[in-house]
Amino acid sequence: MERAVAERPSTAPVKGLELSAPDITSAEIAAVTEVLRTGRLSLGPKLAEFERRVADYVGVRHAVAVNSGTSALHLIVRALGLKEADEVITTPFSFIASANCLLYERVRPVFADIEPDTLNLDISRVAAAITPRTRALLAVDVFGRPAAWGELRALARERGLALIEDSCEALGARYQRADGTWAMAGALGDAGCFAFYPNKQITTGEGGMIVTDRDDLAALCRSMRNQGRDEGAGWLQHARLGYNYRLSEVNCALGLVQMQRLDEILAARRQVAQWYEEALAGIPGVETPQARPGKEISWFVYVVRVTGCTSREELETILTGLRARGVACSNYFPPIHLQPPYRTAFGYGEGDFPVTEAVSCQTVALPFYTRLGREGVMWVAEQVRAGLASREG
Ligand SMILES: *Cc1c(COP(=O)(O)O)cnc(C)c1O
Repeated sequence: MERAVAERPSTAPVKGLELSAPDITSAEIAAVTEVLRTGRLSLGPKLAEFERRVADYVGVRHAVAVNSGTSALHLIVRALGLKEADEVITTPFSFIASANCLLYERVRPVFADIEPDTLNLDISRVAAAITPRTRALLAVDVFGRPAAWGELRALARERGLALIEDSCEALGARYQRADGTWAMAGALGDAGCFAFYPNKQITTGEGGMIVTDRDDLAALCRSMRNQGRDEGAGWLQHARLGYNYRLSEVNCALGLVQMQRLDEILAARRQVAQWYEEALAGIPGVETPQARPGKEISWFVYVVRVTGCTSREELETILTGLRARGVACSNYFPPIHLQPPYRTAFGYGEGDFPVTEAVSCQTVALPFYTRLGREGVMWVAEQVRAGLASREG
């Protein structure tokens, strides 16, 4: 708690660093306190303000706040009318929620493999996976790196498919269109979404947001997050099946301050990433993440590749070694198709998506948050160097 509310970058000792940490200042604490004093704790002015702020930032007509990124994805799937036996093509290299949202509606996730360098969907494999049952493409801006939206949009248009953007890891990322103009992540499909869990770029504790230019999708999502009520209708009138996916005024007040501080937060994260790039340069067997032309990263996590690593066991040994040195770390991400619900329901197994499987034996997320500091980064890099060297020896 002490550390989380510090107003200046921590010069604290660089031992036992966590994987992530929210950036909360006294401004957030004041805003939350103020809401509590008003007595209006749900469906109030902070909700409208938070939504407006995100919509304007992303450059879309509508933003609909919900209680998680997963809820946001679920409502998009429902609003698009996707249903049992429909197929949606998506990536196996992501956080599991990006595919689970399909299972909730008995929609079949058809995975397509990723590109080994961007870690995003490989457009040629997406095209090859289209069948007469395909209804939508669901692409993820993994680790805050925009997917191939120009190609995805062209393919979706040509085949008459809806396009869903899981931009939960990419608030603030930018994609350059063919005409040279830039679009914000979230604005690139029929609907996009963000998540505000404490490890994301900004947090509301728990929370999420749907963003879209489509009036029909926004209205449906707005209704379904609130028990299927239509705007202006009575409290006990439910026009359709809905949920309680509302986000409280307390969360929205927190999110609003985080949005006001977004540029500062993203700049701090960019700085930490740059320090990592310098500190890790020249460590044998470690590949650092690189931006691609026309795709501006918003730093969500800092994931390096241990290039010589070829098995899950080997990777686990490396992670265990780093943790023993006090470095929090994680394997972002184990392939979704190899998780039990997917193996069981669809018969997916090893070897189905070789690029994803090979990449996920090499990807290690290192401690990453705004206040990590240069010393912290240097210390982590030193542990990585020593950890990998000891493994070789
Ligand atoms: C975090 C995340 C989500 C879900 O967000 P929650 O708020 O945790 O439900 C969905 N997709 C991706 C890619 C994510 O990283």
